[in-house]
Amino acid sequence: MIIKNMSTTLLDYGNKTGILRGKAMYIYEDHIGGLYTSDRELDYEERHCEQCGETDWLIGCAYTRQEAWDLLKGDKSGDSFYGYDYNYILAFINENWN
Ligand SMILES: [Zn+2]
Repeated sequence: MIIKNMSTTLLDYGNKTGILRGKAMYIYEDHIGGLYTSDRELDYEERHCEQCGETDWLIGCAYTRQEAWDLLKGDKSGDSFYGYDYNYILAFINENWN
């Protein structure tokens, strides 16, 4: 891989490529409920359900447990978790991030 911009620091490079931070995990919410991850961004066709016409939506992308937590905890009131149970979120993070 070629670093085009020579002023790019190793950290930026690592952040962009995920080398220093582990793997990018995209967090999706299933349109029928529940969260799942993908190691790449999914196309509309992959997220779209032909049965009911609804679409799974992207919550965000997290490289680390902390990032996943920050994304999923929602607002600062602390009890939103996108409507999911705290234990569900915890198990989901444990399953997908080391
Ligand atoms: Zn459906």
